[in-house]
Amino acid sequence: YIKFEKIVKKYGDNTVLRDVSLTVERGELVTLLGPSGCGKSTLLRCLAGLEQVSGGRIYVDGRDVTYTDPKDRQIGMVFQQYSLFPNMNVFENIAFGLRMKKMHIEDIRGKVAKAVAMVALEGKENAMPAQLSGGQQQRVALARSIVTEPKVLLLDEPLSAIDAKLRKSLQKEIRRIQRDMGITTIFVTHDQDEAMVMSDVIHLFNAGRVEQSGSPIEMYTQPETSFAASFIGNYN
Ligand code: ATP
Ligand code: MG
Repeated sequence: YIKFEKIVKKYGDNTVLRDVSLTVERGELVTLLGPSGCGKSTLLRCLAGLEQVSGGRIYVDGRDVTYTDPKDRQIGMVFQQYSLFPNMNVFENIAFGLRMKKMHIEDIRGKVAKAVAMVALEGKENAMPAQLSGGQQQRVALARSIVTEPKVLLLDEPLSAIDAKLRKSLQKEIRRIQRDMGITTIFVTHDQDEAMVMSDVIHLFNAGRVEQSGSPIEMYTQPETSFAASFIGNYN
C-alpha cells in the first residue's frame, strides 16, 4: 500500500537516508526500529511531505506522491514532539482537522466523542493542554490523528513520555484502534520490546539503511548481523 523506492535524503553533505526501500501492506502496522539519529523520523517526514526526498520515489495506494502537496496525501501524523494547540481545549484540538474539512458541527461532535472515548479521556473535553499530564496529552494527539480516519497513520514515538504501565495499555489501545479501523500504520520507536509487541513487520534501521526486516519473531530468533543481534536479537 505504501512503497518507498530507493529513498535518499541529504542535509547538505550529511546523507541521512541511503537507498531505503520498503513496502507496507494495506492495514498493516509496520515498525521502524533503530538507534537515535538513524533516520526514522526523516523517513516519516518524507512520506508526510514535510521534507522533500533527495532521490527515490514514494507511492501510496499505487499513486506516486513523491512531489505531491502534503494536504493531498490523506496522512495522519503524531509527531515525536507532540504539539497540541496550547490555546485550544481538548475538544477543539481533536476537532481541528474536522473543522478544516468544513464538516457540520453535529457531525464533528459525534466524531470527537467517539475519538475521546477511544483514548479514554471522557470528561476532559474542556481541559486545556497545560492542565493535562504528558500521557493525557499524548492521548489527545492520538485522538486528533485518528478522528479524521486517515488511510495512513504515522506515529513517531507516540508513547515516549509515558510511564511503563500506561504505555502498555496505550500500546494495546493503538493496536486495537488501528486493527478495527484497518489503518495502514508506520510506528517509530527505539524500544525493542515495544516493537516486538506492536508490529506485524519490523524494519531495523542502522545509520540511514535498513539493516534487516522481518516479523518480530524472525527478528528475535534470527538476527542476521551483530548489530541486529545486539539491538533486538536473543543474545542480550
Ligand atoms: P531519534 O530516535 O533520536 O528520534 P531518528 O532516527 O528519528 O532519531 P532523524 O530525526 O531522522 O533520526 O535524524 C536523522 C539524521 O538527520 C540525524 O543525524 C539528524 O541530525 C539529521 N537531521 C534531521 N533533521 C535535520 C534537519 N532539518 N537539518 C539537518 N539535519 C537533520
Ligand atoms: Mg526521531
